[in-house]
Amino acid sequence: MDQRENGALLAEELSRDHELLLADSDEALEQDFDLCILDGRALDRLWELVKQRKAREHPTFLPVLMVTSRPGVKMITRHVWQSVDELIITPIEKPELRARVAILLRVRGLSLALRSRGEEARALAESLADRARDMEAQTTQLEAQTRELRWSAERLAERTLAAEEANRVKGQFLATMSHELRTPLNAIGGYAELMEMGLRGPVTAEQHADLLRIQASQRHLLGLINEVLNYAKLETGAVHFHLENVPAREVVASSESLVTPQAKAKGLLLEVTPCEEDVTVRADAEKLLQILANLLSNAIKFTERGGRVSLWCGISGDAVLFRVSDSGIGIPTDKLEEIFEPFVQVRSDLTRTAEGTGLGLAISRDLARGMAGELVAESVPGSGSTFTLTLPSGIPR
Ligand code: ADP
Repeated sequence: MDQRENGALLAEELSRDHELLLADSDEALEQDFDLCILDGRALDRLWELVKQRKAREHPTFLPVLMVTSRPGVKMITRHVWQSVDELIITPIEKPELRARVAILLRVRGLSLALRSRGEEARALAESLADRARDMEAQTTQLEAQTRELRWSAERLAERTLAAEEANRVKGQFLATMSHELRTPLNAIGGYAELMEMGLRGPVTAEQHADLLRIQASQRHLLGLINEVLNYAKLETGAVHFHLENVPAREVVASSESLVTPQAKAKGLLLEVTPCEEDVTVRADAEKLLQILANLLSNAIKFTERGGRVSLWCGISGDAVLFRVSDSGIGIPTDKLEEIFEPFVQVRSDLTRTAEGTGLGLAISRDLARGMAGELVAESVPGSGSTFTLTLPSGIPR
């Protein structure tokens, strides 16, 4: 068989299982293929190009199969297997041809798979390196943030210490001042009373009226100073709580009778809803009464004539709630927390006319918290306010 016949035979045999690209020029070597089949003459002419093409694919294996007649085999020694990977001697045996082509294509396939694995591995390595860089940057950032946080925490601790110290000094100052003021005030009251009773000689009707005013002012001032003293004591931690199981109904009844005259005098409706009979609250009875009396007298103070004040008591889970509501002037939303600060009073006509130090709620909240409770306020300005005191339940009676 001559070369052409061999070529046709090859083409016919291989086209059954493979896609063939019949090369009619040297440029065909530049195209994409998985196996190159050449005869001796073509290889003689193209061996340099074939070598370059194989080198370009390196390290991926691009197989070249040479079909040659027995005398052409010696040509192989010249190429020293640089450009040829497999050999078929004519006349072509079809099974042999199929087997060699299949093996070469399999090796090519494996080599391509290896290449793509290699590329994947490289891409993975790159993305890992990227991640490592990101993490390094994040670590640096975190370290900086940690340093900042530590610095802030240290400053905060210093400030807290300074604030605690300032608070302690303030409390001590208030306690001393209140004590120093009470002694002469008591003397004023005592002497005014002596005179008013006529024990220092006769007094005229006008002098009598003045003495009564002096006494009223003295009592008022003493009340304010006592409140300041109470607050100062609370702040310095000098107040002790005697916690016991206090019958809630009794505290409600006591606070009602304390404020009934005030409410009547102002023409207010006082509604009281007592707790169930057996409910007790874990509290210091005297301090609980002090809180309720303060909340009720505030409600009366800040409600116009003809309004309504109510005291409700009930249980919620493990807690006992005392709720003091009124239909008074209300509290602006942005002041609902501020009013629990000492000396804070919301400006209004009623605060101007009503007496007070702005300490009642600060004392009440401190007392509530001192008994493991809480005191909060809600309000609809213009419609009224509700103060809720929550305290732990006691053992039922
Ligand atoms: P004081 O009553 O001596 O002014 P408090 O600490 O008891 O001090 O109250 C602080 C302020 O909170 C009051 O001056 C008032 O402005 C406001 N406030 C308290 N209770 C009520 C209430 N029931 N309705 C409206 N405002 C209130």
